[in-house]
Amino acid sequence: MGKYPVIGLLGGGQLGRMLQEAASPLNVELAILDAAGSPAKQICENDKHVSGSFNDPAKIRELAARVDVLTVEIEHVNADVLEEIATKGVSVGAGRPLKKVPCHPSWETIRLIQDKFLQKEHFLRAGIPVAPQLAIEGEALTAAALQAVGDKYGFPFMLKARKGSYDGRGNFQVRGPADFDEAIRSMGKLSLYAEKFQPFVKELSVMVVRTEDDDGKLRDVHPYPAVETVHEDSICTKVFLPPRGVQAEACAEARKVASNVIRTLKGRGIYAVELFILKDGGIVVNEVAPRPHNSGHLFTEAVPYMSQFKAQLCAILDIFPSKVTLEPRVQSAIMLNILGGAAEESHDVLLDEASRSYDKDMDVYIHLYGKASKPGRKIGHITVTSPSAQISSLEQLAGSLTKEVDSI
Ligand code: ATP
Ligand code: MG
Ligand code: MG
Repeated sequence: MGKYPVIGLLGGGQLGRMLQEAASPLNVELAILDAAGSPAKQICENDKHVSGSFNDPAKIRELAARVDVLTVEIEHVNADVLEEIATKGVSVGAGRPLKKVPCHPSWETIRLIQDKFLQKEHFLRAGIPVAPQLAIEGEALTAAALQAVGDKYGFPFMLKARKGSYDGRGNFQVRGPADFDEAIRSMGKLSLYAEKFQPFVKELSVMVVRTEDDDGKLRDVHPYPAVETVHEDSICTKVFLPPRGVQAEACAEARKVASNVIRTLKGRGIYAVELFILKDGGIVVNEVAPRPHNSGHLFTEAVPYMSQFKAQLCAILDIFPSKVTLEPRVQSAIMLNILGGAAEESHDVLLDEASRSYDKDMDVYIHLYGKASKPGRKIGHITVTSPSAQISSLEQLAGSLTKEVDSI
């Protein structure tokens, strides 16, 4: 169809759906591996799609055989198969040579990031500021071991699963000896690590684009502006641009640290760097996602010429415009996640409110993902932007919408 290489995408959720929205105007063909009818597949017909799990080695090989380059919308995929396909190749028919299909970001990056403990050990070696941490195997998780961590890091401290966690599932805050039994019961079978608690005043996120030449040599990193992320029950619910009450210097520093983080990884694409801002202004890197991220959604409207999804495409296809500055075209923006409520129709009132909320100082954009509503499930988001209002005024203008989102 188009002049560009065909991209194979592991995972067809909302991130894939929005990647497809960015791909359509460029005639970039996306072949998606996920269940039939998944959010991304709903909006693009393609005979190269594969039905199945993005963790199934046979299905990943089937997808790879049909495309030129692979990418992901989720990091919890089979990195060994991605390595095999990139280095040894994949069969494209009897008697024909194996075809090597690269993956961006690199399978090495995906493998490293999957293990949050190893990810941060890697950052530590690169001189990136991270919270002190130590590995604990699940079977070694005894009250004595937990007390030893408490003696070293103080209470509370974080107990985290090394692999497979998202939205805070796999995290446990140990407040003191009274929590030991519950910690052992709920986490005792996992491969774990303990992390010193960071008394942050704000959580920030910086999306960074990484470009490389065909030999994998870093061309450049391009950070978006820092945004403030607000988490409730460990799920990101709101994002503010610019961050509220954070000095411009701290935001600039966060951008610099995030750029340095992404310089240490391999592979083209878009990355999210989650950071904590401490009371003294210090910055600590929490973790990296090697893909588009909830905290980058508002750039679809705030940096309209280069959404995070278009950035992912352009980086992968090596057509990213090197002079792009990624500065916002709006004064302020807020993203509100729509989480499923107790009933399927819980969010209908919100949609009515959003449709009515246009104001001369506030533009409102609704994004729904084509997902059935389940309690706590991310089923859409709303972005509001203002050409003129400061973030505090935009927050006021969006007050009734925020109230509606919070009440679902
Ligand atoms: P995600 O959905 O972002 O992948 P996750 O399951 O990997 O989340 P983390 O990012 O490790 O989990 O932690 C979730 C949230 O818990 C953080 O955004 C932060 O609010 C809080 N948190 C995590 N680690 C710490 C820490 N060391 N000190 C204080 N708070 C923390
Ligand atoms: Mg995570
Ligand atoms: Mg996180």
